[in-house]
Amino acid sequence: MSKGIPERAQVVIIGGGIIGASVAYHLTKRGISDVLVLEQGQLTGGTTWHAAGLVSQLKSTYSLTKLATYSARLFEDLEAETGQATGYRKPGSISVAADIERWEELKRGISMASTVGVEIREIEMDELREFWPLVKTDDLVGALYIPDDGKDAGSLDVRVRANSKVLEILSSSLPSHISSDADSLIREMFPIRLILEN
Ligand SMILES: Cc1cc2nc3c(=O)[nH]c(=O)nc-3n(C[C@H](O)[C@H](O)[C@H](O)COP(=O)(O)OP(=O)(O)OC[C@H]3O[C@@H](n4cnc5c(N)ncnc54)[C@H](O)[C@@H]3O)c2cc1C
Repeated sequence: MSKGIPERAQVVIIGGGIIGASVAYHLTKRGISDVLVLEQGQLTGGTTWHAAGLVSQLKSTYSLTKLATYSARLFEDLEAETGQATGYRKPGSISVAADIERWEELKRGISMASTVGVEIREIEMDELREFWPLVKTDDLVGALYIPDDGKDAGSLDVRVRANSKVLEILSSSLPSHISSDADSLIREMFPIRLILEN
């Protein structure tokens, strides 16, 4: 499986986490076909490996919220785009505030995210308890609900390959749950296109 690194590529991305993979995906979508992702360890083996997979749209600023909203829509559409089941779900999310300052921050978030087009609203404690019966509400000040927030399915279930098929994996250090001969599975799992120049 181990090969030398190509001497040339149109674009070289350092780091094969979600950001590197996303940059590779978007470049190939724009028609750049010669993208090389260099990963020092295992693909997605950095911080990305630790992520819980929560796809939340409410962020601290307008720009980040807009970016997060784009990501949520992208994850949602990938199955239709690729024909591959991604396992992405939209259970929605709730956020709660246990003091007035946090509630003020969340309310500002409701206002800001609404301008981005995020469906987001304040919910009463009764509704919160319906969503999550185990929640203790007597010390809460407020709660909000975002119906379209999502959750990924975990790396083994996600196959992303729209316009970004893996042609070669040069790493000799594959994730430990993959045997080195599981080539076809690997090609489906990692959203990176790597075309070697002859
Ligand atoms: C416990 C935990 C839970 C989280 N949960 C969520 C969540 O639910 N939802 C969410 O949106 N975010 C979550 N996050 C945050 C999210 O995981 C990170 O924001 C995201 O993974 C960062 O991706 P990245 O590609 O920038 O970094 P990384 O995944 O760390 O990727 C960087 C890669 O670059 C490689 N690299 C670095 N230097 C070099 C080099 N010189 N040469 C070659 N390769 C190099 C590294 O080996 C690494 O693989 C969570 C984070 C943690 C720690």
